[in-house]
Amino acid sequence: MTSAGTAQRIEADTAAIDLIGLATHMAPPAAIDAPRLARELYGLDGESTPLHGERNANYLIRGSKQGLILKVAGALEDLGGVRLQIAALEHLAAIDPTLPVPRVIRARDGRATVEVDGRTVFAVSALPGRSMEAIDFGLDHLRALGVLVARLDRALRGFFHPWMPPKLAWDLRNAPVLAKAVSLIESPDVREAVAAVYDRFIGETLPRYGGLRSQFIHNDVNYPNVLVTEGEPATIAGIVDFGDMTHGPLIADLAVPCADNACSGLDALDAVTAFVEGYTRVQPLEEEELAPLHDAILARLATGFTVVAWRKRHDPAGVAQLAAYEKSGWSVLETLLGHGRDTVIAALGRAARRAIVVPATRPDMVARPVPAKAELIARRARVLGRHLSLSYDDPVHIVRGDGAWLWDADGRRYVDAYNNVPQVGHAHPRVVAAIARQAATLNTNTRYLHETVLEYAERLTATMGEGLEACIFVNSGSEANDVAWRMAQVWTGGRGGIVMANAYHGITEAVAGLSPYEVAANQVAPHVRTLAAPDAFRGVTGDDGKAAIASLVKAGLGPAMLMIDTGFTSNGIPDVPKGYLAGLAETVRAAGGLFVADEVQFGCARPGTHFWGYQHHGARPDIVTMGKPIADGHPLGVVVTRRDILDRFFEATGFFSTFGGNPVSAAAGLATLEVLQNERLQDNALTTGEAFRRGIRGLMNRHPAIGDVRGAGLLIGVEIVQPGTRTPDKLMTDRVKNRMREQGVLIGTEGVHGNILKIRPPLAFRAEHAAIALDALDRAFAGD
Ligand code: PMP
Repeated sequence: MTSAGTAQRIEADTAAIDLIGLATHMAPPAAIDAPRLARELYGLDGESTPLHGERNANYLIRGSKQGLILKVAGALEDLGGVRLQIAALEHLAAIDPTLPVPRVIRARDGRATVEVDGRTVFAVSALPGRSMEAIDFGLDHLRALGVLVARLDRALRGFFHPWMPPKLAWDLRNAPVLAKAVSLIESPDVREAVAAVYDRFIGETLPRYGGLRSQFIHNDVNYPNVLVTEGEPATIAGIVDFGDMTHGPLIADLAVPCADNACSGLDALDAVTAFVEGYTRVQPLEEEELAPLHDAILARLATGFTVVAWRKRHDPAGVAQLAAYEKSGWSVLETLLGHGRDTVIAALGRAARRAIVVPATRPDMVARPVPAKAELIARRARVLGRHLSLSYDDPVHIVRGDGAWLWDADGRRYVDAYNNVPQVGHAHPRVVAAIARQAATLNTNTRYLHETVLEYAERLTATMGEGLEACIFVNSGSEANDVAWRMAQVWTGGRGGIVMANAYHGITEAVAGLSPYEVAANQVAPHVRTLAAPDAFRGVTGDDGKAAIASLVKAGLGPAMLMIDTGFTSNGIPDVPKGYLAGLAETVRAAGGLFVADEVQFGCARPGTHFWGYQHHGARPDIVTMGKPIADGHPLGVVVTRRDILDRFFEATGFFSTFGGNPVSAAAGLATLEVLQNERLQDNALTTGEAFRRGIRGLMNRHPAIGDVRGAGLLIGVEIVQPGTRTPDKLMTDRVKNRMREQGVLIGTEGVHGNILKIRPPLAFRAEHAAIALDALDRAFAGD
C-alpha cells in the first residue's frame, strides 16, 4: 500500500471510531429459559425457537393458541426504546385495528414489561406468514407493500413519545459520520459511487432534511421485516420489528424499502416506482419530497456499503446479516445512477401522481358481514331474471380488482385470465384518476366543444391507417356495430349482411340479427348469410364468401357489408390462414359491400404483433368498431371509418348520441390508450401470450385431452377433445374451467361445441400470472 493509501486508511480507522455504537452489530443478551418465562408470565406452554435480533433476543413461542414473540432487551437497549415500541404498537391497535402489525401481549398480571434478572422482558403477538425474503416477489408485491407502509405511516401520524433512540448508522442524519469511513470500501467502483452519493446528500439534501414533513416512523421496512402469506401465491401479510423506530422525515420510511427491497432481481426503477405508486394510493407525497426521496434512497444504499465495509474490519460477526447489500445493492445503485437523478425523480413523480388516493382504511379492508352466496343468487334471480347466466358451478362474488388480480368477498385472490374489459388491468390507477378528475370537473352531452374527445379521436385514429380517420362515439360494442350496419347500408345501398357462422356482434335488434351465436344457426335474419369459419385443426379452410354474395344478389338484397370479429372468438379462436380475411374482404368489396372489422374482442393491442386485429390479418377495413376494452371498463364504443362514409351517413340520418364521447368517457379512453403505450402492453401481449401458449403446448403430452393450442397475443384458445380424436369434449372443458376457478384462476369456455377454453386476460397479465395459471391448468387436467 502506498503511504498516501496508508494515511487514508488511518484516517478512515480513526473516523471509524466514531462509528462504534453506530454501526456495531450488537450481540443480543445471553440465552434465557424462554419456554419457562412464556409459561410463567404469559400462560403459554409451547416450543421456543430463537429468532434473529440485533439488540433484542427474540424467541418465537408456538403454543396451541396464537403464538407470541418473547423479547428480551439487550444490555445496550435503553428501556425507553422498549416503552416507545409498546406505546407505538398500542397506538396502532387503537387507530387502525385492521393493520397487520404485532399486538402487545401483556403478562398475566397486566404488566406490559417485566424485569427478569435485571433484564426487561416483553411480548408481542406472532403474526402468521413468512418473511418476504422467502419468495421471488414481483411489482404487485411492492405496490401492496407501499399501500401497507402508507397505512402504517398514516396511523402513526398522531403518535408521539418523549424518548429518542440513540444514534444509529442507518439514520441518514448520521451520513457525515459514515462518509468518513467510505475509504474502507474495497471495490473502487462502489467506493467512488458511494462517495459521490454522500457528497450530494450531505451537501445538498441534509441541510433541507430537517425541514421535511416528520413524524415517528418504522424506519426499517426491509424484507426480513415484511411478512407474506404461507400459501401460493403469497401476498403481503404484515410488518414486524418496531425496534428501529425513530422520529424523522417521513420519506425515510419510503427510502428504506425502496433501496433494500429493490435488491430482488427486478428492474430497480420499476421496483422503486411500484412501491411509490402503492404508497401514494393511500398517502400523497408532497412535490418537495420527491428529490430528497431519490437522494435518500441512494444514501440508504451508500450506508449499506459503508456499514458492511466497516463491519468487515471491526465487527465480522455483523456482516452476515447484510450480505444482500454486497450481492445486489450494487446493481440497484448502478441502475438508479445509470438512469440519472432527473429521470428517477421524474419517474417517482409520475408514479406518485398516477396513484389515485383512497382512504387509508378502505371499506373493503374493514370486516363487515358478507351476505351468503345462496342469498345473493336468489336475489339476483328475483330482480335480474333466472336466465341471466352466471359463470362457474360455484359462482364467484368478486368485490375488488387490481391489475390482473381479483378478490372475492372472503378475501380470496384470483388470477384473472378471462376479462378483456379491464384491458390495461383492473382499477388501473391512471384510468381511475382520469375518470375521477373529469367527473369532478365536468360531464355533459356531446353538443359542446370539448378538447379531450378530439385529442382521443386523433390519437386513436393515429394507430389505424387505411384512411380510417373519422369517428362516431357511442357507449357499447353493440351500438358501434349497429351504427356500422346502418352506415354500410347507406353507403352501398345494399341490404344484405355476411357474418361468420356462430358470430356474435351484440344485442340491438339489427345486430342480434347478425349474431347466429344468439340463435339456432338456421334462424338468422333473412337478409343475413353465414360463412363456415376456418378450422385448421380439422383441415377446414373457411368459406370464400362467393356463395353468400351470390345468394344475397339472387334475393335482390345485395351485400351491404361483411362483419367479422377479427379474433374469430365465438368460432373457437381458430388459427386463420394468412391472407384469408384480406381475401374475403376484397371479394365482398368487389361485389359492392364494405368490410367492417369488429375489434370489440381482439383489438387494442391484444394481438401482440399489431395494435388491431385487422392489421394482424393484413386486411383493409372500411369501418372498424370498438367496444369493451377501449376504456378499461368504462362503457365506451367507437366507430371509425373514412370521412366520406361518415359524411354520407350523417347526411342520410342526422345521427346523434347523447352520451357517446362525453368528457368522462373520452378521458377514460385517452388514459387507457396512454397506459397501453406507456406500459408497452402490446409487447407484453406478444411475449407473455407466446410463452403461455408454449407452456400449454408443453402440457399436451401429459394431458391428451388438449387437442390444439392456438390464438395470437393474449387471446388463447385451447381445444379440448376426447383423447386421440378430434371429438369435442364439452364435459371435460367445463370441468377444467371449474377446477381452475377452484384453484384461483378465472378462464371461460367458447366455440360452437363449448369445448374451447377461452383465455383472454387483461393485458396487465404477465409472466408471473401465466406461471400460476399454467400450474393450475396442469392440476385441473390431472384432476387434483
Ligand atoms: N362484438 C363482439 C365481437 C363481441 O364479443 C361483443 C360482446 N361480447 C360485442 C360486439 C357487443 O359488445 P357490447 O356487449 O359492449 O354491446
